Amino acid sequence: MSRSAHPAGPRHADVLPEGHYTAPPTDLNALEAKVWSRTVTRDAEGAVTVGGIEVARLAEEFGTPAYFLDEADFRARCQAWREAFGADADVFYAGKAFLSRAIVKWLKEEGLNLDVCSGGELATALGAGMPAERIAYHGNNKSPEEIERAVEAGVGRIVLDSFQEIARVAHIAESLGKRQRVQIRVTVGVEAHTHEFIATAHEDQKFGIALAGGQAAEAVRRALKLDGLELIGIHSHIGSQIFDMAGFEVSARRVVQLLAEVRDEHGVELPEIDLGGGLGIAYTSDDDPREPHEIAKALTEIVTRECESAGLSAPRISVEPGRAIVGPTAFTLYRVGTIKPLEGLRTYVSVDGGMSDNIRTALYDAEYSVALVSRRSDAAPMLVRVVGKHCESGDIVVKDAFLPADLAPGDLIAVPATGAYCRSMASNYNHALRPPVVAVKDGEARVIVRRETEEDLLRLDVG
Ligand SMILES: *Cc1c(COP(=O)(O)O)cnc(C)c1O
Repeated sequence: MSRSAHPAGPRHADVLPEGHYTAPPTDLNALEAKVWSRTVTRDAEGAVTVGGIEVARLAEEFGTPAYFLDEADFRARCQAWREAFGADADVFYAGKAFLSRAIVKWLKEEGLNLDVCSGGELATALGAGMPAERIAYHGNNKSPEEIERAVEAGVGRIVLDSFQEIARVAHIAESLGKRQRVQIRVTVGVEAHTHEFIATAHEDQKFGIALAGGQAAEAVRRALKLDGLELIGIHSHIGSQIFDMAGFEVSARRVVQLLAEVRDEHGVELPEIDLGGGLGIAYTSDDDPREPHEIAKALTEIVTRECESAGLSAPRISVEPGRAIVGPTAFTLYRVGTIKPLEGLRTYVSVDGGMSDNIRTALYDAEYSVALVSRRSDAAPMLVRVVGKHCESGDIVVKDAFLPADLAPGDLIAVPATGAYCRSMASNYNHALRPPVVAVKDGEARVIVRRETEEDLLRLDVG
């Protein structure tokens, strides 16, 4: 099987490093708090519940595979981020992680803003009542129609990603008789992944405008000249699933340096800086994410220090967590089908979903945990690979994990931390019907995105 290497490096290599997963967890029935959403517990009889409801009951009512989203946890995480950053900063939830009308409503209620990066996401946000001024519009190739719609709606900011876009947004805003608030997305020569960051000398990527070679300074020069634009700040987003704050440190320092250059050249202090998202979550027991208040403290200190030394007044900071808010709040529930022990290797456990509901394992060599949730078991651990039902040998959900050896067809297993980039990246491969998202809270479960039906599939296929 050939798959592209994960930028995070050898930790994700095909061959497990020495000592990795050689020992099964001491208690297969334990649900490690950091990888499961807040209200998930296993009761005395061994059944797992979320939001006070047994998962077996959820499976019966909503079927499998399905995503169950812990609404109380989602709201608590929104609150934690908002409180951590306080009134002098803005938290934008990155809608691409997972977006639905219910999510928009919760964000609105919890005082968060929202990042969108397509016409569809914008339509969802506006349609569900997010005030336009709380929406930021991203993307490296926004169409003129999308830009027009965003400007017309009055989005709070458009993040400009190229020289062409600077001219295009200015032109559209002017022709609509508006002045659009914008930020310029810069690439700072840093790429961060998981436990390390990589300094990149040149910027070989599609997003943003390079600080290097005076490109970003030139972008600012142009934006400041255009009547259709109100340049409010500089934006930088350095990677994903990041635990190490060093990348943010370098990024903030370089962005502040640009702000100082802008002040020196134009006599203007741009009032905002956006440090993007990318904060990591725990997919397995190996991951130790930071709490929002630690992240806020670290980022605020870096920006304050850099601004002081550049003689700038501190800009308003914004951050854009997607995964860190929604990722840990949901798990995917699957029913076990075929079980195939491969002597001397491992046991393949097939479930009723797969790469159509979670592409991250195939796409990024992502790691996940898994647990038997319909009952407890005191059987010995067996090394498993959880695979889907698609016609593709790379259709893996959990590459290496332990489940009890008495696992049987019909058992329910759950994969935690699938709230981000799973439903939002789901596909109809093999004409799979995309699973529903069910919000669970205080003993009540409610479908927020329904399961696709064969009728849905056929409706698009007009013959
Ligand atoms: C994807 C993205 C985010 C969110 O990233 P997470 O890893 O989900 O936190 C934030 N900002 C921008 C510009 C992005 O592209």
